[in-house]
Amino acid sequence: MDFGLTDEQRAVRDTARAFVTREVVPLEAEMLRRERSGAPGLRRDELRELQARARAFGFWGMSTPEEYGGMALPAVTQSLLWTELGRTPVPFRFGGEADNILYEASDAQRAAYLLPTIEGERLGCFALTEPEAGSDAAGIRLRARRDGGDWVLRGEKTFITFGDEADYAIVIAVTGSSAREATAFLVDRAMGWTSRPIDTMGSWHTPALLTFDDVRVPASNVLGDVGGGFDLAMRWIVRGRYVIPSQAVGTAERCLRMAIEHANTRVTFGRPIGERQAIQWMIADSEVELEAARWLTLRCAWAVDQGAPARHPAAVAKLYGAGMVNRVVDRTLQIFGGMGYTRDLPIEGWYRAVRVLRVLEGTDEIQRMIISRDLLRGYEKIGGHLA
Ligand SMILES: Cc1cc2nc3c(=O)[nH]c(=O)nc-3n(C[C@H](O)[C@H](O)[C@H](O)COP(=O)(O)OP(=O)(O)OC[C@H]3O[C@@H](n4cnc5c(N)ncnc54)[C@H](O)[C@@H]3O)c2cc1C
Repeated sequence: MDFGLTDEQRAVRDTARAFVTREVVPLEAEMLRRERSGAPGLRRDELRELQARARAFGFWGMSTPEEYGGMALPAVTQSLLWTELGRTPVPFRFGGEADNILYEASDAQRAAYLLPTIEGERLGCFALTEPEAGSDAAGIRLRARRDGGDWVLRGEKTFITFGDEADYAIVIAVTGSSAREATAFLVDRAMGWTSRPIDTMGSWHTPALLTFDDVRVPASNVLGDVGGGFDLAMRWIVRGRYVIPSQAVGTAERCLRMAIEHANTRVTFGRPIGERQAIQWMIADSEVELEAARWLTLRCAWAVDQGAPARHPAAVAKLYGAGMVNRVVDRTLQIFGGMGYTRDLPIEGWYRAVRVLRVLEGTDEIQRMIISRDLLRGYEKIGGHLA
């Protein structure tokens, strides 16, 4: 058993770390200042410029196939890179990416959606959740009915990330007798849907409510097969489940480092607070949980690279990683005392931002449902692939 990184993994990780340290971390102070005034941390043009700089550094299309100019990196390497990005509160991500299900595009759709999305010229969003259906995705009601050669969409989608900025949406709509008979549609904003931002406690995620009021979509904009939308939606959601804990590991590492530095330098009652057991235990607990989350996440990414079923390890990593980062950020804030609560440091922003990781792309409860069902029905063995 080898828990080490290959030379290549280490080289890619170190180069990403150098980029984040040199180009992204210096933006943090300005990002915090903007947040205090309610402005977005990074504008779309700034994000694109930074992504172009990362491209010159060699980072473009982590998950994108080489035929589309991407790096097609193994999941373990992608996980390591997401961890590097998680170290900074600046909402930066490498460019050259498209939603995994967009590769189902037809030739015409490839030219109109996939390629411009990879190039960063167009921004898409993924719209599954509705006001009446989140965890229970099979309860969606937004309906698409056929009308001549078109489909007409009517209903609402909510909490859609990038929904207020996106040029188009991948919309999962009911096209059969039950919600499981759904179809994915590529729907340009110009076709008539509207959006309204939803104010949330985290500044990273400003999702939106999308309204489809008889929006007419040509049949050529069906993504994949008619009736195949639910499967596509599940594929989209499961992909993110190792990305979220990977980022969480980076955020927790940065917080723990800050906590250690502060504990060693902040003096109360004549001694650094790091000499007090109460503080030492918080640091120890954070280290243990961080390491547990790291290995659960890498084990999940490894399963993806082996082509093995990853639903179960992904649910385990997502559940634990999202909870872990919330606890580590909370302890870090506690160790910083009053300073931790101020907006001069990124800790309070992280405190608000990481909370959503326990909700999106499957809540804690849904992950627990998946994990326990897998075990109770014998789909998974205790001990996983080592059993
Ligand atoms: C910032 C943000 C961004 C998002 N981005 C997107 C996006 O881009 N695209 C998209 O489609 N969606 C997106 N979502 C939606 C997100 O996936 C849903 O919010 C999530 O799946 C939970 O659904 P819900 O909010 O309807 O909660 P509900 O499903 O109503 O659940 C409410 C509570 O009940 C619990 N619960 C539900 N069912 C059960 C059960 N059977 N047993 C035990 N407990 C249960 C849940 O865990 C939760 O605690 C986003 C949400 C947020 C907050």
